[in-house]
Amino acid sequence: MMGFAFFDLNVPVTKTSSSILALTKDEVAEYEPTPCIRCGRCVEACPGNLMPQKMAQAAMHNDYDAFVKLNGMECYECGSCTFVCPARRPLTQTFKQARQYVAAQRRKK
Ligand code: SF4
Ligand code: SF4
Repeated sequence: MMGFAFFDLNVPVTKTSSSILALTKDEVAEYEPTPCIRCGRCVEACPGNLMPQKMAQAAMHNDYDAFVKLNGMECYECGSCTFVCPARRPLTQTFKQARQYVAAQRRKK
C-alpha cells in the first residue's frame, strides 16, 4: 500500500526495497486515474484527519502555500487515501513529491 510507481528501469534496488511489482501494460491500464468525484472517501480514510482531495488539488496546481496551509506536510504517506480512492487518483505520490519540494525550498532559506 505504501509503494510508488516508477516509470524508469534505471531506478536502483536498495536494501530498503521490500518488494517489486512488475505490471503489464494491460494491468497498468486498469489503474488509469479518472477525475475526482468528490466522494470524500479519502478524507474518511486518512488517519491524520487531513483533506487529501484538497491537498492534491493544491499540489497539482503547484500551489504549495495552500498545500502547507492544508497541513500537507503532516501527511505521513501511509497510502490509505490512495487505496480507497474509487477514481484511482495518485494522491500519496502527489503528496510525496509536494512534501519533497516544500522541504527543499525550506532548506534553501
Ligand atoms: S477518494 Fe478520490 S474521488 Fe473521492 S474525494 Fe478523494 S480523491 Fe476524490
Ligand atoms: S497518505 Fe497522507 S493524506 Fe493520505 S491517508 Fe495517509 S496521511 Fe492521510
